[in-house]
Amino acid sequence: MGEGQTIPLSQPQAHYLFGVMRQGVGDAVLLFNGEAGEWRADVIEAGKQRGGALQVAEQTAPQRNPPDLWLMFAPIKKARTDFIVEKAAEMGAAQIIPVQTEFTNAERIRQDRLQAHAVEAAEQCGGTFVPEVSDLHRLDRMLANWPEERHLMFCDEALAGHAATLGRDLPRGAPWAILIGPEGGFSEAERARLAALPQAYAISLGPRILRADTAAVAAMTLWQTTLGDWT
Ligand code: SAH
Repeated sequence: MGEGQTIPLSQPQAHYLFGVMRQGVGDAVLLFNGEAGEWRADVIEAGKQRGGALQVAEQTAPQRNPPDLWLMFAPIKKARTDFIVEKAAEMGAAQIIPVQTEFTNAERIRQDRLQAHAVEAAEQCGGTFVPEVSDLHRLDRMLANWPEERHLMFCDEALAGHAATLGRDLPRGAPWAILIGPEGGFSEAERARLAALPQAYAISLGPRILRADTAAVAAMTLWQTTLGDWT
């Protein structure tokens, strides 16, 4: 992205900007592409049906990337899954990975729809980065091929009420992942697999059992304050 560059708009983008947001030629909008920060651009062509074009004016914010944190969660009902993706984008996840666990009900997800939620969340909170939402991965396969350098904060409901928190002495600036289970929780086999993974730290999110969407936000808050970019 650079000053003076012309950016053509796709039909859906033009529809959103001119049809929904009622912008027109001469109006200014803020742009980001996930790599070059935020830029002001002016509408130079607006056609409700045919698309349109923007001209890039000046940079208004530098690129800000979140720490290298994956949020892994077992998809639940549609609205709650949407909520998790939206909050993960706001809270600074670098990658969002829906995982199928033994007790996960959802067999498939609409990756494109979830990705669109992540884009919208980044737009809403003035972000310059959009986390990628991957397709549904099987947890057992992911754990079998777990990247050596990535630490895993395993939120285990079996530890509710136990003193098992994220230590401040854990590696900062390293790649991390958070794992949140489904409504049915984790199976004993999954717990055993996680216990055998040296990169995994089983932690408690307090004395109460939280719903998965609440747990995702709580876990990200805990991680960001202890090891992430809040401090
Ligand atoms: N049905 C399960 C609860 C699942 S809650 C039961 O009654 O035991 C959904 C997910 O949120 C869990 O798999 C876990 O990842 C997370 N979670 C909820 N409360 C938690 C807590 N107090 N400590 C750690 N993880 C928690």
